Amino acid sequence: MNDAAKNIAPAFELLEKIFDYKIYSVHDCINNNQKSKVAIVYLKSLTSEAGLWRFGDFQIAEEADLVNGDAEQINEIISSSDFNINYCPFCGLRLATHLFT
Ligand SMILES: [Zn+2]
Repeated sequence: MNDAAKNIAPAFELLEKIFDYKIYSVHDCINNNQKSKVAIVYLKSLTSEAGLWRFGDFQIAEEADLVNGDAEQINEIISSSDFNINYCPFCGLRLATHLFT
C-alpha cells in the first residue's frame, strides 16, 4: 500500500467493515493527482472469491477542519463517496485485467 493509500486507510477500513470485504490491491495511478483523498482499490469478499474494483473519494479532517468546526478529530471522515468501477478514471486502464500488489 502506498503512502497516499495509507492516509485514507481508515476510510477504506470502514468500507471493509460495511461490505465485509478486504483490500486486496491498490491501483497507484500515475495520473491521480489527488492521492491524499482519492484511491482506487481492489476489494475481495471475505466469504467468497468475489472481488471488485472500487473508486473512493474521501475528505479526511485536517487541523484546519477542527479550527473551522467542521470536524471534532483529525483523520475523521468528513465526507465520502465511493462506487464500483471497471476502468481507471485517470488513465483509462481496464482494471479487471490487472491486479497490483
Ligand atoms: Zn490509472
